[in-house]
Amino acid sequence: MTAPRLDIDLDKIQHNARTLVERLAMHGIAVIGVTKATLGSPEIAGALLRAGVSGLGDSRIENLEAMRRAGIRAQMTLIRSPMASQAARVVATADVSFNTELDVIAKLASAAQEAGTAHSIVLMIELGDLREGVMPGDLEAIVRAILRFPNIVLRGIGTNLACRSGVSPDARNMGELSALAGSIEATFGLELDVVSGGNSANLQWALGSADTGRINDLRLGESILLGCEPLHRRPIDGLFTDAVALVGEVIESKIKPSRPWGEIAQTAFGEPSRATDHSRIAQSILALGRQDVDPAGLCAPPGIEIRDASSDHMVIDTGDCHTPVGAEIAFQLTYGALVRAMTSPFVTKALVKSRSRPSKTPPTQPSDRRRRACFGKPFGILNPAASQDL
Ligand SMILES: *Cc1c(COP(=O)(O)O)cnc(C)c1O
Repeated sequence: MTAPRLDIDLDKIQHNARTLVERLAMHGIAVIGVTKATLGSPEIAGALLRAGVSGLGDSRIENLEAMRRAGIRAQMTLIRSPMASQAARVVATADVSFNTELDVIAKLASAAQEAGTAHSIVLMIELGDLREGVMPGDLEAIVRAILRFPNIVLRGIGTNLACRSGVSPDARNMGELSALAGSIEATFGLELDVVSGGNSANLQWALGSADTGRINDLRLGESILLGCEPLHRRPIDGLFTDAVALVGEVIESKIKPSRPWGEIAQTAFGEPSRATDHSRIAQSILALGRQDVDPAGLCAPPGIEIRDASSDHMVIDTGDCHTPVGAEIAFQLTYGALVRAMTSPFVTKALVKSRSRPSKTPPTQPSDRRRRACFGKPFGILNPAASQDL
């Protein structure tokens, strides 16, 4: 198999998605499967749909278009405010878009009129994280204006927290969203189908609340793909944290001094290399670098430490592990690193067969912190495994 590559286990992704869909259904909440970290992969979209998500959401129109071209039939939502310049493409491909600007909605309305269709929108409300959303005090006037546009259907309202400022979803801000839904309905005599509470950061609130009010929709990406909740990056009970791994190949393996010699100035990327107190270390180089992934978002398997990375080389201290030239090493990724790897043209995406049964409880996590983040069957030094190109 070629490297670097992402080993993607569709069964585990489907298991994670289905588990969350079922748990949230008990609270009256549907799940939009967010595909923005998958570059519109139709295989991953298929796994999400088989798991019972109510639709797919992506922040990029290009990804939604790619899934449509691949024949994916599902309700598709553009979860980033559309660019006014892309209004016609948005109306052509997305059933629903999230919006905050009347000027953009006006463009969507004309594009929908021209195409002879209706376009649905969810109005995003600012509840403290200070990214997208209209201020609650402006809501009534904006809704009044939206209702005058032709070919635009106001499907609901939503909010997004824990992205820019890390504001946690809680009873107070979620209660406010529910109350705003009720007050719009009362004021305008309409019914909002969708009250979308947020992203993976809302899981703790949603699953831990006896009363989730009017919230009936969450958009989930990270929790499905990585099995973690993003507020504290803790594994979610019953989910696989090893559905996706990044694999690099060793191109040099030597015992070297740990200290550089010569006069020391800046490195290729400016930051100085971290000093170490060992005299000689087992050092390997992987053909993997910043053009492929964000090295800071990689978690090495136990016994291996990432030392430094430039655009094309990653230097690792392999300790007592034997990593000869040609060996493959599999890393766990953060969401940010996953997005970078997925969008790198140098990284192959490979579908791998499940190494453990998805219906079984995933491997229990050892208590020590580093191992908790890293431990799992597919992480470590691999035998070039039987996997198939996407
Ligand atoms: C990315 C995003 C999501 C999904 O977030 P996850 O943390 O991956 O679940 C949901 N809503 C919006 C608006 C987003 O941009």
